Amino acid sequence: MFQQVNGHSSGSGAQGGESLREDLQEFLSGEAPLHQLDDLTKVNPVTLETVLRCLQARYTADTFYTNAGCTLVALNPFKPVPQLYSPALMREYHAAPQPQKLKPHIFTVGEQTYRNVKSLIEPVNQSIIVSGESGAGKTWTSRCLMKFYAVVAASPTSQESHKIAERIEQRILNSNPVMEAFGNACTLRNNNSSRFGKFIQLQLNRAQQMTGAAVQTYLLEKTRVACQASSERNFHIFYQICKGASMDERLQWHLPEGAAFFWLPNPERTLEEDCFEVTREAMLHLGIDTPAQNNIFQVLAGLLHLGNVRFAHSEDEAQPCHLTGDAKCSLRTSALLLQLPEDPLLETLRIRTIRAGRQQQVFRKPCSRVECDTRRDCVAKLVYARLFDWLVSVINSSICADPASWTTFIGLLDVYGFESFPNNSLEQLCINYANEKLQQHYVAHYLRAQQEEYAVEGLEWSFVNYQDNQTCLDLIEGSPISICSLINEECRLNRPSSAAQLQTRIESALAGSPRLGHNKLSREPSFVVLHYAGPVQYHTAGLVEKNKDPVPPELTRLLQQSQDPLLKVLFPTDPEEKAQEEPSGQSRAPVLTVVSKFKASLEQLLQVLHCTTPHYIRCIKPNSQGQAHSFLQEEVLSQLEACGLVETIRISAAGFPIRIPHRNFVERYEVLRRLCARTSSGPHSPSPAEGHSERSPCTEVATLQAVLQDILHTLPALTRAAATLG
Ligand code: ADP
Ligand code: MG
Repeated sequence: MFQQVNGHSSGSGAQGGESLREDLQEFLSGEAPLHQLDDLTKVNPVTLETVLRCLQARYTADTFYTNAGCTLVALNPFKPVPQLYSPALMREYHAAPQPQKLKPHIFTVGEQTYRNVKSLIEPVNQSIIVSGESGAGKTWTSRCLMKFYAVVAASPTSQESHKIAERIEQRILNSNPVMEAFGNACTLRNNNSSRFGKFIQLQLNRAQQMTGAAVQTYLLEKTRVACQASSERNFHIFYQICKGASMDERLQWHLPEGAAFFWLPNPERTLEEDCFEVTREAMLHLGIDTPAQNNIFQVLAGLLHLGNVRFAHSEDEAQPCHLTGDAKCSLRTSALLLQLPEDPLLETLRIRTIRAGRQQQVFRKPCSRVECDTRRDCVAKLVYARLFDWLVSVINSSICADPASWTTFIGLLDVYGFESFPNNSLEQLCINYANEKLQQHYVAHYLRAQQEEYAVEGLEWSFVNYQDNQTCLDLIEGSPISICSLINEECRLNRPSSAAQLQTRIESALAGSPRLGHNKLSREPSFVVLHYAGPVQYHTAGLVEKNKDPVPPELTRLLQQSQDPLLKVLFPTDPEEKAQEEPSGQSRAPVLTVVSKFKASLEQLLQVLHCTTPHYIRCIKPNSQGQAHSFLQEEVLSQLEACGLVETIRISAAGFPIRIPHRNFVERYEVLRRLCARTSSGPHSPSPAEGHSERSPCTEVATLQAVLQDILHTLPALTRAAATLG
């Protein structure tokens, strides 16, 4: 019936009793210094300012974790704190009779989650949802939790199974550097920013050992392969191969030292993440052997050379664009590395084939320079996205356990936080949509569930007004008309529509939504969504095209011609596709839009999350420069507001901190009732509960002693309380 609150286990009456005693004592002994408040529900009064002051005091005291009722707040130290993540400390939290009595830590959440799986009669899957802005520490936190489980969930008895367990845990941990090399990049906000969302399911057997894992990824930012914002970089792996390749490999991949690539901006920034050896080693552990690795790197080098293929307008419009400067050489090298025929590659990049008329005649039309660039970028995005998906499937086949070998899982969700830039497009719309969904899940699970539970129990309770974001979700994804449906409609109708027209359509069709803001400042066509975390202005230019994410079929056909073993796997020739496409030229089933695909995967994720007991970690970035010892109040404040933390704390603080299931309460304190009954009606009067009590007199005496101790411990505090009340 009841779930844990304030980090106190509701499992047994004994724990409940101790917590009660401690809470009371702490309360009555006067206010603890701010930095010593382990739980934000204890700040008085609970306001943004007091919460902020408490977090700042703790940060200054190098205390980075604080409970906030049912949520753990994690401040990014922006400096190495190795003692905070040592295996010894992991074991300490794991071995503690009550880990929630130790200092707040991600290991408390990790251990509580782990025990929840174990302690219940019917094991329930658990999830840990790690949220926060880019650079706040989500990936770090999930990585540490994975290490924690690798330590605590690996204690098999036999030598042989120990080896197996080690192997699987090592493989699971090795998935991190590989996925980060291919999916992370240096951005303005974070040098190691994940450009995809990740949900990893750690699979446990009945004995609570980790037998495997499964990874699901979301919305890789594939545009980064061909287009990087100024001062940002491409995915780490490109820098890793350029910096870390041996002399032989440089020759093989045509990557001479100091070679310049358009798609490799800011190579001079040396990052810790540029460690090629670590990636290679991890790939090896995951079963990707050296020849397969070399094949991957060769393809990536081919993409870098493709990025140097630049076009210039032709004087004669009927003629295709020509190549500039060294582009011919880059094209040749790229074709060589991608094992593609050079002439068809150039032809596909420069000439569009159109089928028209009843006979579906094929027309060839030279592309403009912009179109050529788009097609070149499209090849790179297509290859990279399929490569990333393939890697994820290889990782999964390496770490995924046989379904019969596991019974429960702990899910770790590390997704991009809320984003708001000067220029926001489809990517931000999807990311912020996901965050709205997760916020709703959070609200539903804790805030609403708690309030409703109090109402059901008939407890007096002053309801906190929380921000329900359903109206915002209606605006984004609702039916029949929403932002998503309108953008999809534009794709389906395939009509030429300008950015201004799209803005007008959205604003007029959704004018009634309280979450549609008004943009009066920008001259660019755009619309404003009032998200739970603040207003975001989305520019409509290019939105429909991005949503279509069109891949000209001739590009796919070209890649299917590759002789490269990896590209053959990534672009298999589908006989059915050929049979359908060649004679009629009609395209097959309608291609799903980006928004539709994202929506479907998000719904799937939420379905999984709904079947788990969730735990929340909110990561907070104390400053946006990534500096240690710097706590910028304004920046933290906006993050606290964005995640509605104060509302959560108020509910937890105003709520009942100790909630013991009725059965446990009776078990613990029944002895008192019986005692009272005996004193009032003589030693031998029967008790109605006695019939089902199977306790021995010894147990009964022990319980009575414990209860009396509860009372004795609490008595001085109560006396003091009574004295202060006069
Ligand atoms: P996010 O995934 O939220 O974008 P990351 O987890 O990549 O952010 O963290 C950004 C950077 O902050 C990391 O690269 C690391 O340098 C630092 N960092 C995050 N958490 C910690 C921590 N607990 N201890 C030390 N440094 C941290
Ligand atoms: Mg990350």
